[in-house]
Amino acid sequence: MDTVPFDFARTNYVLAPHTRYHIGGSAHLALFPPTLADMEAAYQWLFTTDMPFIVIGGGANMLIDDRGYDGCALFTTELKEVHPLGNHSFFVGTGILLADLVRKIMLPNNYEGVGALTGIPGTVGGALFMNAGTANGSVCELAVSVDLLEDKGVRRLPLTPDRYGYRGQSFCQGDTVITGAMFRFTPSERDESEVYHHYMRRRSETQPDGLCCGSVFKNPPDDHAGRLIEAAGLKGKRHNGAIISEKHANFIMNDADASFDDVFHLITLVKQTVHARFGVELHEELRIIRSVP
Ligand SMILES: Cc1cc2nc3c(=O)[nH]c(=O)nc-3n(C[C@H](O)[C@H](O)[C@H](O)COP(=O)(O)OP(=O)(O)OC[C@H]3O[C@@H](n4cnc5c(N)ncnc54)[C@H](O)[C@@H]3O)c2cc1C
Repeated sequence: MDTVPFDFARTNYVLAPHTRYHIGGSAHLALFPPTLADMEAAYQWLFTTDMPFIVIGGGANMLIDDRGYDGCALFTTELKEVHPLGNHSFFVGTGILLADLVRKIMLPNNYEGVGALTGIPGTVGGALFMNAGTANGSVCELAVSVDLLEDKGVRRLPLTPDRYGYRGQSFCQGDTVITGAMFRFTPSERDESEVYHHYMRRRSETQPDGLCCGSVFKNPPDDHAGRLIEAAGLKGKRHNGAIISEKHANFIMNDADASFDDVFHLITLVKQTVHARFGVELHEELRIIRSVP
């Protein structure tokens, strides 16, 4: 590889500390563009190389191979601009933590939607990519447009309901990078801080502490992946350092220096067992990044 023309580049960069699983080997290259202009320059440069790349936000939904990633990890975490636009609207950079969107914008203004976003780790960009949310709603429902970095530069796309669904969307595919979004909020008639504290408490009662990516599997239609995994008798099942949580069966924890293979073993076991017992095919919600793209 030619010399990388950016001072925000790191080579042979260990990814594990950037994921909530604390699993992941070294990326050949990591880029941390500090501004949108730098992000655009880095993105254009990547296409002049033949290097594959992955986009990483908060790493809260990623299981990365501990044998490393033979490409570039493009981090969005430095893009943290926020602009109030008036009329309860805000431009929010992709690298802002979703928790900060909730605590620094939604709660002080008592905006609706807190119940949908409370307690979800990661960045705004990652949340939009995943259409993260809860039974109370999802992040894409609150955004009116997204800024997408593509080969021709940044394009602003209105966000309409046909462009997203349960834990997924169609507006950011392939090599596209979400660089920000415009949110328009509605003032709430109830006390949203009560909603916030209610759901924070609920999470600590029902979800385990520790290294994980939250729910591993999407819920199948009209059912819950956690219920099926528990009914299959898999709660507490361990493989080396990885364990299916006793507290919430849809959480696979890195309990003791688990490897990528340890977690992946349990993912495969769950899928096979649930299918054999109930005829239901579970699909991963978490993103699996393999060593060789
Ligand atoms: C304890 C815990 C609880 C959780 N609870 C929930 C929950 O209740 N509901 C829920 O929906 N999720 C939940 N999650 C999962 C996770 O928090 C969400 O999926 C979150 O939105 C991921 O954001 P991130 O920035 O960490 O994304 P990452 O993990 O960094 O990336 C996830 C995916 O998005 C892509 N991506 C990230 N940023 C961008 C970008 N700017 N442009 C293009 N692609 C991008 C990545 O390439 C990857 O494919 C939980 C996770 C944990 C650890």
